[in-house]
Amino acid sequence: MKDSIYVSKENYLKAILEAEAEGRQVIPALLAHWLEVSAPAVTMALKRLKRDGLVQVSADGIVHLTSAGRETAYRTALRHHLVERMLTEIFGMEWHEIHEEAERLEHAVSPAFEAKLKEKLGEGGACPHGNKVLPESPAERKRRGETPLSEAVEGRRYTVVSLDERDPKLLRFLRTTGIGPGQSLLVRTQNYDQTVSIELPTGNSILGRPAGEAVWLRPEKQGTGSRKQGSGTGAKDQGTGNGAP
Ligand SMILES: [Zn+2]
Repeated sequence: MKDSIYVSKENYLKAILEAEAEGRQVIPALLAHWLEVSAPAVTMALKRLKRDGLVQVSADGIVHLTSAGRETAYRTALRHHLVERMLTEIFGMEWHEIHEEAERLEHAVSPAFEAKLKEKLGEGGACPHGNKVLPESPAERKRRGETPLSEAVEGRRYTVVSLDERDPKLLRFLRTTGIGPGQSLLVRTQNYDQTVSIELPTGNSILGRPAGEAVWLRPEKQGTGSRKQGSGTGAKDQGTGNGAP
């Protein structure tokens, strides 16, 4: 558990905004879990954020951002996004190494540096985990034709679109397993014990529920076996349309 001193106001605001963007109801327990802090630390932080006019807590205990809170939260999320892209696109760091680095650096970006990063990288792109500035709700993603690995269809081939990047340990696990954005994989079976068996170019793997829910996929255009091409070529198909708006 982290010392509350190291979890800044910006981290709280960003976590609230991200949770809202994912369509969750933000309660103090969720913040304690996400930020790895104690319940009393969250209570204290929320008191300060309320005093500063950045959040409101409704009678049923749901935390809401005020417009000032939302602005700070978005700015922090944007800086996180830009720093991640800077670390990979400019410095060549890999996607499993950068999330924590970006967590530290996002607080040090000045408005002038932010403007430079935006100019250099553009604002609309995806981070190396395949995510936009703010996460989207599962419903929105499904409407676009994406599916979490935990719900993918047996026997079908998919390309990994994005990874839930909140948990660095999960990112390292996925990396070790051989799963990253752009990777092509075949879903073999959805198992009774809520695991999923997949086939990767490196071999077969079985993933549990938490990993299965953190990996978002897009079906590859040609169904299994309808095109006699080796596995691994699917990565290049990513972002070439597929009927997405
Ligand atoms: Zn990212």
